[in-house]
Amino acid sequence: MVNPISYTPGQDPMQPRPFRVVRAIRETADVVTLELEAQSGPPLAFQPGQFTMLYVFGVGEVPISISGDPHKPARLVQTIRRVGLVTEALCKLGRGDVVGVRGPFGSHWPLEQARGGDVVIVAGGIGLPPLRPAIYHILHQRQDYGRVYLLYGARTPADLLFPEELKRWQHTLAHAPGASPVRVTVDRAEGGWDGAVGVVTSLIPVLPIDPLRTTALMVGPEVMMRFTISELRKRGIPEENLYLSMERNMKCAVGFCGHCQYGPHFICKDGPVLAFPRVRDWITRKEV
Ligand SMILES: Cc1cc2nc3c(=O)[nH]c(=O)nc-3n(C[C@H](O)[C@H](O)[C@H](O)COP(=O)(O)OP(=O)(O)OC[C@H]3O[C@@H](n4cnc5c(N)ncnc54)[C@H](O)[C@@H]3O)c2cc1C
Repeated sequence: MVNPISYTPGQDPMQPRPFRVVRAIRETADVVTLELEAQSGPPLAFQPGQFTMLYVFGVGEVPISISGDPHKPARLVQTIRRVGLVTEALCKLGRGDVVGVRGPFGSHWPLEQARGGDVVIVAGGIGLPPLRPAIYHILHQRQDYGRVYLLYGARTPADLLFPEELKRWQHTLAHAPGASPVRVTVDRAEGGWDGAVGVVTSLIPVLPIDPLRTTALMVGPEVMMRFTISELRKRGIPEENLYLSMERNMKCAVGFCGHCQYGPHFICKDGPVLAFPRVRDWITRKEV
C-alpha cells in the first residue's frame, strides 16, 4: 500500500506553510524534538513513515520524518539531529519561532499489510523517530497485530531517544505477560549501563518470531540496514516483507529535481519507505 506524495489537498506542494513551535524538547546532546502547530489552515494529516520539508527562513530547507502520533495530527512532531547548517538552525528554535512546512510527502510503512502477523521494528540511532508513528499506530490497533518487537541500537546510553516511552512500550506492546518486546543495545556501555552491548543485529537471532507471518520495518545508517536485512533473511523472513526507509539529498520533494534519484527510484516520491526487493540491486553498491 505505497501511496506516494500525499501533500495536503488544495495546497501548492512547493509553497511552505507557516507553523509555530509550541514546544522544543531537548532529547540528547544533539537531538531536538519540535512540536509545531499550523498558524492557519488544516492540521497536517500524515501516514507513518512520511516526511516533510522543514524550512528555516533565511537558512534553508531539509527533509525530516514525522515522529508524532498519526492519530493526533493537530500537533506536527519532528525529531532532528544536528549535523549541519539547517539542522543546527532547527535545533536552536524555541517556543514561538516559526518554520515553513511542506508536505507530507512520500510512501509509508505497510501497516495494513502487516495486520494479522508479527512485526519486527529495527532502529539505529536517529532511525527511531521515523518509526515512532508506526509504533503509535500499532498501539492504537494493538489487537490487529501479533507479536511486535522493537530492536533499538544507539551509540551510548546517553544517545538513547525517548527512554521513558521505551519503558512504557515494554508493557504496552507486550502480547503476553512477561514478554519482552523492546530490546535495546548500545555500542559502548557508559554511566552504569547494565543492558545489552553490541550491534542491533545481534538481537535478531534470538527473536521468537514466525518468519512467514512477519513484516520487518527498519531505519538506520545504510550499513546497519544491510546487516539487518541479512540477519532477517537468515531467519527466513521473505524479502518482500522487509521494508526500509532511505535517505538521500533532496530539494523539491515531489519528483521534479532529481536530487534524490536512487537507481530507477526517486526517494522523495517512490520512497522513503521501500520494500527491499525494489532496492536490492542498489543498496549493495557504493556511491548510488
Ligand atoms: C526522507 C528523509 C527523512 C529524514 N528524516 C530525518 C529525521 O527524522 N531526523 C533527522 O535528524 N534527519 C533526517 N533526515 C536527514 C536530514 O535531512 C539531514 O540530516 C539534513 O538534510 C542535513 O542538512 P544540514 O544542512 O543540517 O547539513 P548539511 O550541511 O547538508 O550536511 C552537514 C554534514 O552532515 C552530513 N550529513 C548530511 N546528512 C546526514 C545524515 N543524515 N546523517 C549524518 N550525516 C549527515 C553531510 O554529509 C555533511 O558532512 C532525513 C532525510 C531524508 C531524505
